Amino acid sequence: MDLKIRNLSKTYTNGVKALDDVSLDISSGMFGLLGPNGAGKSTLMRTLATLQQADHGSASLGDINVLAEKQRVKQILGYLPQEFGFYPKDRSYDLLNHFALLKGIRNGKQRTQTVERLLKRVNLWDVRKRKLGSFSGGMKQRFGIALVLLGNPKLIIVDEPTAGLDPAERNRFHDLLSDIGQDIVVILSTHIVEDVSDLCTHMAIIKDGRILLSDSPAQAVAQLKGKLWKKEVAKAQVAAYQQQQVISTRLLAGKTILRIYSDTRPDDGFYPVEPSLEDAYFYQLSLN
Ligand code: ADP
Repeated sequence: MDLKIRNLSKTYTNGVKALDDVSLDISSGMFGLLGPNGAGKSTLMRTLATLQQADHGSASLGDINVLAEKQRVKQILGYLPQEFGFYPKDRSYDLLNHFALLKGIRNGKQRTQTVERLLKRVNLWDVRKRKLGSFSGGMKQRFGIALVLLGNPKLIIVDEPTAGLDPAERNRFHDLLSDIGQDIVVILSTHIVEDVSDLCTHMAIIKDGRILLSDSPAQAVAQLKGKLWKKEVAKAQVAAYQQQQVISTRLLAGKTILRIYSDTRPDDGFYPVEPSLEDAYFYQLSLN
């Protein structure tokens, strides 16, 4: 089942155009929606999760009209928001068991098996009796995934899941996401390039509510092949390269590393570099 998004637009009452004619085709597998803060990612995610309405446009998943058929969407959607509140005194096992009952798993043995399977899958079985208030950010996110998987969703939306996680927790979360079934549409919204390069087969870059690129990460990177150059310069020299297409300036061990997009070597001090997805991302942002 493919998710087809067509011409979605949304302007908030304060005049901010958060979505500007967004169209995307998203197949099953992991899709990364990459963009800086304020780009419109959450607006798009919340719209697809039927939590808010667009001004114009449509979205469909198979024969489901995602924007209009709230009940049908609820049955197939797993939505993990940026932040979610639990009672800190709840224990993960009890809460998951409770939600399993709400989902209609009335048979006690079946429910126990489901809860055990999910807690093991998200690596929280050993801490099932601990209070959620004592969980780290990463553990809460993993618990969120267990809740999402409880409903056997066909469409999973995860909004900025790794923001604020330390590298080890982020890796654990990546492992977990990469295990989710291939026949499900999973949309991962993030401003972190590694989330996309580690996990996603397809991606889109969004800025100011507009889709700048929709492609595979490999294709996005391939566009830069042979056209990316780097040079170490003193900080005061950076301004001298303003006329060039600067992709990024980064400090490395106290030195500034310039990366420039150019068909030919900008000057003798530049070396060719292999482009990364981060370069492709900064390149797209620099064009717009
Ligand atoms: P992202 O998730 O990429 O950070 P958002 O979708 O949260 O982006 O926001 C897109 C733009 O819309 C931002 O400029 C933000 O300030 C604005 N915005 C988000 N929610 C609201 C709202 N409820 N009312 C007014 N403006 C909003």
